Order: sequence, then C-alpha cells, then structure tokens
Amino acid sequence: MASEAATTPRFFVLEKGALGSRYDTEVETVDPVNVEDDAPRCPRCGGIIGLLTWLPPYRVELELYGEELGDFIRGTGYDRLISERFMEAFRAEGLTGLEGFHPVEVLRVRCKSKRPRQPLTVPRYYVVWPCFGRGAVDPVLNRVRTRKTPTCVECRSAGVDAIHGFVLEPGTWEGEDIFRPRGMQGDIVVSERFKDFVERHGLTNMVLTPTEQFVWDPANLGPAPLPTA
Ligand SMILES: [Zn+2]
Repeated sequence: MASEAATTPRFFVLEKGALGSRYDTEVETVDPVNVEDDAPRCPRCGGIIGLLTWLPPYRVELELYGEELGDFIRGTGYDRLISERFMEAFRAEGLTGLEGFHPVEVLRVRCKSKRPRQPLTVPRYYVVWPCFGRGAVDPVLNRVRTRKTPTCVECRSAGVDAIHGFVLEPGTWEGEDIFRPRGMQGDIVVSERFKDFVERHGLTNMVLTPTEQFVWDPANLGPAPLPTA
C-alpha cells in the first residue's frame, strides 16, 4: 500500500550558499545596465509580482568572497547565473521552469579572500529566470505572516513579512521543476526531481530546504498562528 508520503510531491526552497561559505560570490552588473520599463505583473489584477527584468548587454564583475566559483550565483534582481555545466545538464535531462539561458560576459573576478595560490577557474555563466509557476502557497496551512489578506486568486500577493514553513496547495502545481510560487513570488521553489538532479551532478552553491522547514524572519515576528477550527 502506498503511503501518503510517497504520493504527495515534496518541494524545497532554493537559496545560494551562506555568506562566508566556499562559493560565496557577489555579482555587480557593469554599465550600461538596461532593464525592462515595467516589472512583471499579475495577468489578473495587474499587481507587481517581481523585480525589473535585466536586459542585454549581460556583463558583470564578480566578487569572490569564498575560494572558488560555484554553479549557481545570485544576481542583482530576480536573475540568477548558472554555470555551463548546470545549463547543459538541465537541458539534457529535460528539466523545466528556467527561462533565459543568455550568455553572460564576466569582465573581471575580484578575489576578496585569501585563497590558495592556484589559477582560478571561471566557468562560462548564463543568466536565467525561474518562471512564475502555477503552484500556489496554501492559504490555510502555511506559517507565513503577510501584511494583508490576499485578494487576488491568481497572484495571491500579500507582502510577506515572515516565513516559518509553508506548503503548496494540493493540485496547484503543474510540474515545473523550478519556479516562483503564487503567493510567495520572492522565493524560488524546486521539485524533488530538481533536488535529485543537483545532488547527482554535485552542483555547487545551492542550499535546498524542505518548504515545511524553511524559516525567514528578519524582524523576529514568529510563526503566524494556525487557524483554529
Ligand atoms: Zn493578482
């Protein structure tokens, strides 16, 4: 008999490695920096659901605070840089949910830490954007503090103040392997298949936390109270 755990999809929050970790790297975009005129908007209510999208030329300088450059680097907005090996494996295995894949020109790498005296390997990087997915944060079962009750059934945007674990509403996910969920577009969520992919290829500078255990609470507000029946 299949248990519920075996049939319910599991999801993970994707973040870059921590400050001070082996692959700690910052991105600085190089002038001219062009962005789209308008931010991504909800197709239903017109509310802003993301940051301005970066446009060409894709030129950066990297500041390496760790020891080596990883396969995943957080960009300045909603953009992320991935290494060529990440991109090739992602495409070869038919994973879904990333858009972009435009080559990024790395003009310079500034080493900000003491690292071993050996040449630094600089992978080719590509800019990607995790898609806005169909999966929606469960309005009842999450422990997320929001500024207001969401009014739009599409974007469910409410302004997140604190997260103490969340789950997706059953039936809303449509199979994307990496996406920004409705109701929490500021975070990147990935499928179990994506987690397996990262581990199998040993892709670096990615931290994956089960959504139920993910905590983000800069103002120490504590978990949202669960509704009482
Ligand atoms: Zn909306």
